[in-house]
Amino acid sequence: MIESRGLLITWPGGVTLRYPDLQLGPGQTLLLRGPSGSGKSTWLALMAGLLTPTQGMLVVNGAQPGQLTQAARDAWRSRTIGFLPQGARLSPALSVADNLRLAAFASGHAPEPAHQQALIKRLGLLPLLRHRTHQLSGGQALRVALARALLLRPAILLADEPTASLDDDHAQAAMQLLREQAERHGTTLIVATHDQRAVAALPDARHLHLGAAA
Ligand code: ADP
Ligand code: MG
Repeated sequence: MIESRGLLITWPGGVTLRYPDLQLGPGQTLLLRGPSGSGKSTWLALMAGLLTPTQGMLVVNGAQPGQLTQAARDAWRSRTIGFLPQGARLSPALSVADNLRLAAFASGHAPEPAHQQALIKRLGLLPLLRHRTHQLSGGQALRVALARALLLRPAILLADEPTASLDDDHAQAAMQLLREQAERHGTTLIVATHDQRAVAALPDARHLHLGAAA
């Protein structure tokens, strides 16, 4: 599902991030670990083809995202990647339903109605569909963001610090939800975190450790 070798990116401003090699099969779970500033969010952006590596080889779901044209890359991303950004990043002026619509519209693909309905039901969003997202609790916002990430049945779900702003109970619930949903859909789950609670919640996951930036 993912193969990377000698992956390296230099940010404008001089910071170079070097990543350990990885081979991850479909349906596997990965914990991307490392302190703040070690390059976890950057690594997720590389996997999603939102950034291009300065050096190294990266194959994600059969493609090298950095080598694709912009249009091909966008098409590849919408099939391949579901992204759960840190802090959910919903559009606050829109309802829950419109946040999901906007995501589908932006991707240029219509979600399968049955899949969308099942997702909404399973994540407990039915009573929230008309709510503006600024009215949601942290746990509710995460569920909306998770529905949005899974709307197009991605092969890979990337979650950036999903437990960061949650208390212990909600952190545990969030991790359980991620696990369940990934298992149910056969999605490869990747969680970037420096939270011990998230690590403990995925006992069978592989670990990729990042050190401090060079
Ligand atoms: P983490 O998610 O592990 O906290 P990041 O991937 O966000 O780490 O950042 C790693 C390093 O990359 C940062 O310390 C910073 O030096 C550099 N970096 C991140 N984003 C940018 C950016 N937009 N522009 C320049 N440098 C950046
Ligand atoms: Mg980060």
